[in-house]
Amino acid sequence: MSKRRAVVGPGCSAVRSAIEKLEDRSLLAGNVLVQLGNTASVKGDGLDNAIEISLGSTPDEVVFRGLNGTTVNGSANPFVATVAGGLGSLNVNLGSGNDLVVVTNLSEATDSWPVASDPQNADDLVVGGDLSITSGKGDDVVLLRHVEIAGALKVNTGSEKDIIVAESVTAGSVSISTGSGNDQVLGRVLSVTGTASISTGSGADAVGVYNSNLHDKNRLSLGGDNDAAWIESNVVQDISLSGGSGSNELTEDFAGHNTVSGAAKVSKVDEHLELTAAVHFGYEDEIGPDFWGELTPAFLLSEVGRQQAPINIVTADLIDVTLPDIDVTYVPNTNVAFVHNGHTVQVNLPAGNSIEVDGDTYDLLQFHFHTTSENLVDGQGFPLEFHLVHRDAAGNLLVLGVFIEEGAENAAFDELIANLPNNTGTPSTVIPGPFNPEDLLPVDRDYYAYNGSLTTPPASERVSFAIFQTPIELSAAQIAAITTAIGGHNARPVQPVNDRQIFV
Ligand SMILES: [Zn+2]
Repeated sequence: MSKRRAVVGPGCSAVRSAIEKLEDRSLLAGNVLVQLGNTASVKGDGLDNAIEISLGSTPDEVVFRGLNGTTVNGSANPFVATVAGGLGSLNVNLGSGNDLVVVTNLSEATDSWPVASDPQNADDLVVGGDLSITSGKGDDVVLLRHVEIAGALKVNTGSEKDIIVAESVTAGSVSISTGSGNDQVLGRVLSVTGTASISTGSGADAVGVYNSNLHDKNRLSLGGDNDAAWIESNVVQDISLSGGSGSNELTEDFAGHNTVSGAAKVSKVDEHLELTAAVHFGYEDEIGPDFWGELTPAFLLSEVGRQQAPINIVTADLIDVTLPDIDVTYVPNTNVAFVHNGHTVQVNLPAGNSIEVDGDTYDLLQFHFHTTSENLVDGQGFPLEFHLVHRDAAGNLLVLGVFIEEGAENAAFDELIANLPNNTGTPSTVIPGPFNPEDLLPVDRDYYAYNGSLTTPPASERVSFAIFQTPIELSAAQIAAITTAIGGHNARPVQPVNDRQIFV
């Protein structure tokens, strides 16, 4: 097969020209090599925040090479390659410097709202061959989401602190190896037909594998120093787990929290980790929002996710569209459970309360409160915000958000406030009812819409947010009662919007 290559060196116009060529599908019959220079040549070109490359459905090979010094932190512009349609294979070679690679499906980047009804398959990026990412020095972040790889997924990172997240990824085989430095690897909702191998080098590394299906012989080997591995809720065939030198920890009761059909061999593991579900997070100090991503690999998305909630809604930047109506069918409920779960006060609803959005029915599971509000509007917060959490039959989450401002007393909240639980002795109560949650909503149902995440760990993404534009009013005493019951500040700070669109 002949290989046609467009080689582009560093320099502003050359980079732009390379992207134009990539968008010209006539070039994509063969293989394309894009060779970028250092960060300055990319950032200086006015290519704010992201470079997006979309490929058609023909099998192609794309190589990104030489991203020296591309930085992730602060206001620097990460390099984001968004690839859609069928690919032959994808190779990304990163140079030194702190690099960010995001490989995901295009629909996620274009932000339809609410999110697609099939979270697993419908719009995955398909790679016909291998997907290989190799990086040099620097703190690199590799984020793979909703990708189906017919061949092998190979990730090989160099020295320093690297983070690798593979979520909703199907692959023929998986091989992830990290170099020195304190690395973190998260595999979540993986399906691997062949072997899966994760090996970490020296440094205190953390590895998490959850909700995954590993069909063949699997190996996890941790390198030197004190490493930790959370392996929970997976279906595995044979598995071999080996800690290196140092004091290594593994999920407590490994066999009890995974389904192992073959042999499980565990060696050089000294201690046991508490299950992820028991990992304690909070809003202050070393368990506060800035550190959630470090508490366990299961929480990594709170650190490296690209569609995190809450956000600051900037009204000047909103995309004005005709959003679907939210048809609320909540009913009067009796003997409703009201609990303090350690983070907030939460009303758990029985079946029978639902909304319909865009032809899809979502059941109301629970609602809970944040003080102060988590989402902001033009930088302004509210004393309280409550979130009504819904789920459809496919498992998609949709959260309705309601801002609460101080004003007139609101009788619809009387029974709820009379039965508030707390974290100082009364962790659960019952609202006798009949209690209809619809009475708590504003009359005007216009809303802001965006794709976000859970605002508490594990900060899972693909959560559709609809925030009512009109706040409701509660009296100062009513607000104080709810705030006191919560027992302290429980609002996650706003997160970067990145390349998302916010609709109105
Ligand atoms: Zn919430």
